Amino acid sequence: MDQALTQTDAPIFDPRAFRLTTFEAALTARAREFGARVLAPRAARWDREASFPTDNYRDMAAEGWLGICIPEADGGMGADFRAYCLVAAELGRYCGATALTWNMHVCSTLWTGVLTDDLEMDTATRTQHHAHRGVHYQRILADGAIYSQPFSEGGAAASGAAAFGTTARRVDGGFIINGKKIFASLAGHAHHYGILCTDITDGTASRRNTLYLGVPASAPGVSVVGEWDPLGMRGTVSRNLLFQDVFVPEDALLMPPGLYFQAATRWPHMFMTLTPTYMGLAQAAHDFTVRYLRGEQPGTPPVKRRMYPTKQIAMAEMRVMLEQTKALWFAAITEAGPDPSKEGVLRALAAQHTVMENANALAAKAIRTCGGQAMLKSLPLERIYRDSRCGSLMLPWTAELCIDRIGRDVLYERGETDE
Ligand SMILES: Cc1cc2nc3c(=O)[nH]c(=O)nc-3n(C[C@H](O)[C@H](O)[C@H](O)COP(=O)(O)OP(=O)(O)OC[C@H]3O[C@@H](n4cnc5c(N)ncnc54)[C@H](O)[C@@H]3O)c2cc1C
Repeated sequence: MDQALTQTDAPIFDPRAFRLTTFEAALTARAREFGARVLAPRAARWDREASFPTDNYRDMAAEGWLGICIPEADGGMGADFRAYCLVAAELGRYCGATALTWNMHVCSTLWTGVLTDDLEMDTATRTQHHAHRGVHYQRILADGAIYSQPFSEGGAAASGAAAFGTTARRVDGGFIINGKKIFASLAGHAHHYGILCTDITDGTASRRNTLYLGVPASAPGVSVVGEWDPLGMRGTVSRNLLFQDVFVPEDALLMPPGLYFQAATRWPHMFMTLTPTYMGLAQAAHDFTVRYLRGEQPGTPPVKRRMYPTKQIAMAEMRVMLEQTKALWFAAITEAGPDPSKEGVLRALAAQHTVMENANALAAKAIRTCGGQAMLKSLPLERIYRDSRCGSLMLPWTAELCIDRIGRDVLYERGETDE
């Protein structure tokens, strides 16, 4: 078991320095206390067993965290995009796998909530959307229902390059779904899977026809298959999901038809929601190193190593990298909103790339700096290293795809070619 970290950890984003709102300051303080008290002591167990953090979800439900982005009018905490990101980073520093799976759950409320409120819908569609999402929100708040976000299929769809191979066909009263999702975090543990699929009723497999549907885990035809024994983020239990002639009623629509495509094109920062977990892991790698070199890391002898100039240089380099990562990420989550400028999207991609790559670079540097005893499994650092390795692999904004897009979009204006 990890030694519980101290409850006096400083905020990742100091409320005064970063001019957080009162709401953000209070919520991040609560998250930090919750992470140190509840998540940190259990984190090693989910990692060792590659098991789902069920106990954490029970406690998150009891303390209201499952409803963080549900609008206040519907009974939730009403956090917007930035407030959510700041809170999730605080949780990520104590248990990466819990924060990452919680992100999948929260997105089903953030994307259907404040994010879609920014998008265009006629009044009738908006009224119906509010009725549909209200059903999901009440399940979460009243019953502790957990949602997940299985989008990936192993093909070009999750990167946004093609229509999803999982299909939905309209029938009387709802839809029939067929397909397969890979790497479905929370598989076998979520109560509802929020899947992206293609509406093929009119025979066209187009990205514009993407539907976002909440499929009950208990629906006939839904099954969880495959092994789960990965390098990192082991508590996410990201097994595969099969959908075979699964019927869902009309109110399974998490967004009105056509709206997901509008969201993905007009609110691109929505894809940054995977980063807060890794921002937290970057901070955790830094903090571990400070404690270790000062001889204050719980579970290790009180041996100081801070007096060596090489350690001081390494610590300085880590601090510079952490501050750079925080500054860029904070700028990107602050300007997130509908219809960002080209510069804003480039900054979001650069922030995503920076957080995902630097979290792992910081963890690697922490191991190198602290030394062999610091990477024993009785300490959290080697788990932070393995968990942080996963960030840059996550679609649609993998580190490679960020670089690919930044390079092209800096050099070409929309519509320009060299033909
Ligand atoms: C711990 C963990 C949890 C996850 N949880 C979820 C989840 O809950 N829901 C979910 O939907 N997914 C989830 N994923 C899946 C993740 O988003 C990827 O889909 C998954 O890692 C599959 O990657 P791949 O390497 O097989 O992808 P591939 O499609 O084989 O891509 C390999 C690499 O090629 C590059 N590439 C891909 N497409 C293109 C393109 N069009 N142009 C240029 N380069 C490209 C990318 O850099 C990519 O990393 C999770 C992944 C991890 C590691």
